[in-house]
Amino acid sequence: MTNTPAYSPSDANAYDYIVIGAGSAGCVVANRLSADAGKRVLLLEAGGKDTNPWIHIPVGYFKTINNPAADWCFKTEADPGLGGRSLNWPRGKVLGGSSSINGLLYVRGQPQDFDHWRQLGNTGWSFADVLPYFKRAENQERGADDFHGKDGPLAVSDMRVRREICDAVIKAAGELGIPERDDFNRDDQEGAGYFQLTTKNGLRCSTAVGYLNPVKHRKNLEIQTHALVHRLIVEDGRCVGVEYDVKGARRKAICRGEVVLSAGAIGSPQILMLSGIGPAQHLTDKGLPVVHDLPGVGGNLQDHLQLRTVYRTHKPITLNDQARNPIEKIKMGLEFMFTRSGPLTMGASQVAIFTRTRPELETPDIQYHVQPWSADSPGEGTHRFSAFTLSVCQLRPESRGEIRLASSDPTAHPVITPNYLATEVDRRTAIDSLKLTRRMVESPALAPYVAEEVRPGAEAQTDDELLDGARRIAQTIYHPVGTCKMGSDPSAVVDERLRVRGIKGLRVVDASIMPTITSGNTNAPAIMIGEKASDMIAEDNR
Ligand SMILES: Cc1cc2nc3c(=O)[nH]c(=O)nc-3n(C[C@H](O)[C@H](O)[C@H](O)COP(=O)(O)OP(=O)(O)OC[C@H]3O[C@@H](n4cnc5c(N)ncnc54)[C@H](O)[C@@H]3O)c2cc1C
Repeated sequence: MTNTPAYSPSDANAYDYIVIGAGSAGCVVANRLSADAGKRVLLLEAGGKDTNPWIHIPVGYFKTINNPAADWCFKTEADPGLGGRSLNWPRGKVLGGSSSINGLLYVRGQPQDFDHWRQLGNTGWSFADVLPYFKRAENQERGADDFHGKDGPLAVSDMRVRREICDAVIKAAGELGIPERDDFNRDDQEGAGYFQLTTKNGLRCSTAVGYLNPVKHRKNLEIQTHALVHRLIVEDGRCVGVEYDVKGARRKAICRGEVVLSAGAIGSPQILMLSGIGPAQHLTDKGLPVVHDLPGVGGNLQDHLQLRTVYRTHKPITLNDQARNPIEKIKMGLEFMFTRSGPLTMGASQVAIFTRTRPELETPDIQYHVQPWSADSPGEGTHRFSAFTLSVCQLRPESRGEIRLASSDPTAHPVITPNYLATEVDRRTAIDSLKLTRRMVESPALAPYVAEEVRPGAEAQTDDELLDGARRIAQTIYHPVGTCKMGSDPSAVVDERLRVRGIKGLRVVDASIMPTITSGNTNAPAIMIGEKASDMIAEDNR
């Protein structure tokens, strides 16, 4: 709330739309809404331009995550489910948001994920409803068909390198009855195979590259970087503008249409709460005026927890071997420069396996990310021995965490409490997935490669020991969602058209609106959300 009225519909400087956050979803919204030359659009992004070359070279995530020039560098609270460990939670702080620093893996989730959203009462979000938006976004290298599009802004390509150890893992999965699959983005996800990547000609296709660059010349689109949004201006129950800070200078932007909050699963609930929209008692505790009591803001936090098992191999065929050999490094650099191929074009993982820990399940409940390298944690240097990683995560965890304000200071990082492994099903799935991993490495195709289990280590044998091991080796796989959930129950923050409940002129459009996490990586779904929301916003403002 402001002391002086901020809003005048006739204000010549007013925008039709203000989009907060130029991330996976925000860039989509800014592109689609500014396609109408009659609408004035302002896009505010806390980070800077994506000029760092490592953003565009696929393996550059090794250089950009944990780097404050491109990453918010959030940390979680010490988590009891992880034996009291706190985790790094990277989030992109640059044009393109997390799509500029992510692992490039293109996975939409299972059709049942979206049918479940619809079943929760969210009209318009079944798989049949959202498939056209996945297709509209996509520029699929293999061409268009019933499940894929080829004319969209988001380039999707096949992996440019195959590796012996990855092929062996696919074969080992086959020996356990898991079929080989070359496309995880159709009606059935189950199987093992190489991921597709959001790359074009061997370079990253973030949403800044795919959606913003082609339209940044539009006269009706203003893009303001280094703009940290402090709060929304709400008058008489309507969001009429935004207060933000550019390098120490306080600014205000007035909106006559809609403000679209696309600041991600951490930023969006934080900005709502800073604006007095959230759980009343929490806001009062932080000394903030309560503009609208909305108890669900910041709740329902979900993430995929990856258990990173590491296997030492007899054969020097891993990226660890190449990364510590200066001649190999030069070869990798030259290969990338001259052919846009080789290890520098790799996504964060090469092979996916979607399978079930229990045969009675209808669809896969776990996903493997297979990496021909290993490290103590992603973003740190590779190990000095030959090894590969079989990371496994539960796809639909039951555990729920929360985002809360640390203080009313908009520059302070919020308090992130993931609450991992808090339910019996999540703990059971962790134990069973580690057992399945061991069966895989013992299979004829993979056994000849394996010298030793480095993590969690062969000494972990009983269920309790395996669970302890899971708590020790677990990391986020960077998929926080759900903190401004869509729905109609009292904990819902937005309705099925993504309008903030109880406040006019305000929507949330990003991964935070997911009522339940999708069964796979979350970039493609966040982009789909941006595509679908853009249509809804344009329709409602016609
Ligand atoms: C390291 C990493 C690896 C990942 N790997 C993959 C992968 O391989 N495949 C995959 O599918 N998904 C992956 N993900 C997840 C995926 O990228 C995210 O789910 C997706 O990008 C989320 O999109 P979003 O629009 O919700 O948020 P974001 O893309 O995070 O965008 C939010 C934007 O809002 C801005 N913002 C926040 N607060 C403010 C503020 N106060 N003022 C102004 N601007 C603000 C941020 O700077 C950011 O640009 C990864 C994520 C990370 C971080």
